[in-house]
Amino acid sequence: MAIPSSIAICFFILYLLIVHLAESRCPKEFKCGSTTFSFPFTKHTHPRCGLYLLDCDSGGPGTIEVQHGQRWRIYSQRADTIRIIPPNYTRIDCGLFQNFSMPFNPAISFFPGDINETVLMKCYTDYSNASLDKSFPGFEKFGECQEKHQFDIYYKYDVRTISNHPSRCSTIQWPVKARPFDPKAPKTLFYIFDAGVRLKWNVSESCNDCYLSGEHCVVNQSNYTCTKEKHRKLGLVLGIVSAGASFILLLCFSIFIIWKWKQRINRGQNFISKSDLESGSIYFGASVFSYDDLQKATDNFASSKELGEGGFGIVYHGELQDGIEVAVKRLFENNYKRMEQFMNEIKILARLRHPNLLYLYGCTSRHSRELLLVYEYIPNGTLADHLHGEKANALSLTWPIRMNIALQTANALAYLHKSDVIHRDVKTDNILLDNEYNVKVADFGLSRLFPNDVTHVSTAPQGTPGYVDPEYYECYQLTDKSDVYSFGVVLAELISSLPAVDVKRKRHEVNLSNLAMMKIQKNATHELIDPTLGHDSDPEVHRMMNSIAELAFCCLQLEKEMRPGMEEVVEALETIRDGTWSSEIKNDGAVDDFSFEKAMKSPSPSEESVLLKDMKVTNSPVSVTDVWVSGSSTLSWSHDNS
Ligand code: ATP
Ligand code: MG
Repeated sequence: MAIPSSIAICFFILYLLIVHLAESRCPKEFKCGSTTFSFPFTKHTHPRCGLYLLDCDSGGPGTIEVQHGQRWRIYSQRADTIRIIPPNYTRIDCGLFQNFSMPFNPAISFFPGDINETVLMKCYTDYSNASLDKSFPGFEKFGECQEKHQFDIYYKYDVRTISNHPSRCSTIQWPVKARPFDPKAPKTLFYIFDAGVRLKWNVSESCNDCYLSGEHCVVNQSNYTCTKEKHRKLGLVLGIVSAGASFILLLCFSIFIIWKWKQRINRGQNFISKSDLESGSIYFGASVFSYDDLQKATDNFASSKELGEGGFGIVYHGELQDGIEVAVKRLFENNYKRMEQFMNEIKILARLRHPNLLYLYGCTSRHSRELLLVYEYIPNGTLADHLHGEKANALSLTWPIRMNIALQTANALAYLHKSDVIHRDVKTDNILLDNEYNVKVADFGLSRLFPNDVTHVSTAPQGTPGYVDPEYYECYQLTDKSDVYSFGVVLAELISSLPAVDVKRKRHEVNLSNLAMMKIQKNATHELIDPTLGHDSDPEVHRMMNSIAELAFCCLQLEKEMRPGMEEVVEALETIRDGTWSSEIKNDGAVDDFSFEKAMKSPSPSEESVLLKDMKVTNSPVSVTDVWVSGSSTLSWSHDNS
């Protein structure tokens, strides 16, 4: 509200300045009635631009003040002559009978514009009341002023001088407009008056120069001054004012543009529309949301809206203004990378699109109070929930569904690897399921947003216990083969329905990866497999589950070179589904070729080495597990081993 009103004030000030500027300049000509006038006349909108003020607002011809306050109509200005006509000449006003004069103005003098002056005799009644008719032979008499004013007027057209007139009479000079002599013309006073008066004028030289040089010739009582100084100052002031006005205009304009731009961005950020979401990128590839909107969308991060808590923050269910459901991850404070890097990573992650990857809509802006990540909302929980969590009792995950989940997850990971992104946290908690049990792999690359100081062991390790590539503990680096390892754990979970880590299991079986490896190696896969899935009753399921166990075995190899790439995993899953899976070495033993047979021949973890690996994890400094404690699976892990 403040910005629009300040813009309105700016424009109002500007308007006043412009009006003032327009008024302070003298027009060369101006219209009064239907006639054009110029200096020395002016009108009230520019009173300082002339010596005589015309009233142009009464409609019809303008008027000018003449003798004794009478206002006469002014008709034309030609060169230095004007014609003025007494008001209402059809009714002669006795006040007219006095010598004609214009109001005094020291800068200008008027004189008759015609030589045909008519002399009027104004004769007062005396006590004798003797007739004067004989004194003025051939004159007309106008007696209408006798009763009220006690004088008569004797007149004769075109008589300029009268000598020897009686003492009670005085002459009135009347500069009558010249007319060709017309013997038939009525010899009335009206005839004399309706021609009007023609006047010439003479503006004093200095005043005229003043006017010509663009200054104001200002009359004050008996004198006049040229307002050179003031006018120049005024010019300077006007210059400054107009520069200031331009500046204000520019400022107003800029404020307006910025305000509009911010509004647009806010609208874009705050009210992300379905079409925005469909068309993808809005702001550098990721949508930027306003904190307030997300706060509103999640009922101020109400605990009833909590979907769960992970290692990076708490996830809330939210609904945007246009009804789109979102999952808002509220990151734990201040542990993310520098803001710039963070936004960069978001840009990369938000650009990744795959039907089995969770859609990252975007995040709050770098200026926001808190960093929030906004994801599409997936309603059916996680794979972990269905396998061994709160939804496990429903027994909803039949074998074909599990097979499909494995394939979709592998596809999503292969796509990530092709896009040069390592997931770094593949686990059943990060595999979300929609109502048709389609996979949405979540939190890919999330750890990229956080510091990765490999030289310092107290830094939060990447990944979740039970899923972490054992090689990570050798070199503190995760590769795409680390994702393959974690995926191997997911496969083991899919066939066994067991959690990746369970401290209630025997010591060397706490990690499902170890448990699975040992069972498969000992040819005791049936001890690993969830019996409710039809392994014993359905030969197809039996075949597929055994093959998946073999594939998991390949993925869980200690040496990363022995593990397949994600593309190969996808291929393998497809062949398992289609019944063409072969556990034999496929070609002539190329180094990077994988097969179950080959994997079986490679040194595999004995129970002792498994324990050793366990020790490496459990014996990490407390600070490591401290950081990990926020993940639920980690909590039980660190607790039991301390
Ligand atoms: P990590 O931090 O390692 O990813 P996590 O996956 O257990 O661990 P979060 O990713 O924070 O933790 O997610 C917590 C829970 O929130 C998930 O287990 C899931 O139930 C829920 N959740 C997360 N994202 C979504 C989503 N997009 N739609 C619906 N529920 C979600
Ligand atoms: Mg997660």
